[in-house]
Amino acid sequence: MIPKVDSEKCIGCGACVAIAGNTFKLNAEGKSEVVNPTGDTPEVIQQAVEGCPVGAITLE
Ligand code: SF4
Repeated sequence: MIPKVDSEKCIGCGACVAIAGNTFKLNAEGKSEVVNPTGDTPEVIQQAVEGCPVGAITLE
């Protein structure tokens, strides 16, 4: 499962970066980007998906 961030929805809160910082990083626009889809364990990435307050992260 590959995480994807919808930058239209992302509000740049940083929660996903705090949870799975090897997978997500905030870019120059302050939006989350996937830097390594397997940077964290699937369990941790799932926590980031569930922790996103606006549902911007999907697994495909
Ligand atoms: S948790 Fe969601 S809203 Fe917050 S930075 Fe990550 S993708 Fe964006």
